[in-house]
Amino acid sequence: MSQIATLISEVKRYALVQPEEADGLVIHCSDPRFQAAFREFVTSDLGLQHPIPIVVPGGVHDLVSPARLKAARNLWEQVEFMVKKGHVHRIILINHEDCQWYAKWNTLVQTTVGQDISGHLLALAEKLAEKKLGVEVECYLAKLEGDAITFHRVDRD
Ligand SMILES: [Zn+2]
Repeated sequence: MSQIATLISEVKRYALVQPEEADGLVIHCSDPRFQAAFREFVTSDLGLQHPIPIVVPGGVHDLVSPARLKAARNLWEQVEFMVKKGHVHRIILINHEDCQWYAKWNTLVQTTVGQDISGHLLALAEKLAEKKLGVEVECYLAKLEGDAITFHRVDRD
C-alpha cells in the first residue's frame, strides 16, 4: 500500500491543452520512417502548436480510394467529429512517396482517382470543400531524396 502511495506522489504531471488551442487537423500516414519529419514539418514549418493528428496507414488513401469505402465512412465520421469538437479551421493533408499502404491497394485508386498521389490530395481537398465544414485545406507531398525527406506544397493550378 505504501508503495502505491509513493508512486502516486512521484507521478509526473503533464500540461492539458484546451480544445480551443488546437490549431489544425493533420492527416498523414503511420509509416514510422516519416513520423519525426511529419512532426517537425507541421510544428516548425507550418507553425501549428497543437495539431490534432489523424494518423492512419496510407494517409488520405482510404478517404479517396473506392477500394476502401467502409473504412472511408468511418474515417469521414472521425474527421468531421474532430473538426467540430476541435474547432478546426485548418486541415493539413500529407501524402508521401513510397507508401506501403498505397502499394497494397494501388490498382483501384489508380484507375479511378489517378496514379498521381498529389492528385489524391487534391481530390480529398475537393471532397472536404463539398462538405462545407468551414475549413482551409492545405496539401503537401513528402518526397524521398536519398535518406532525407522534403515537403512540397500541392496546389490546383
Ligand atoms: Zn505510407
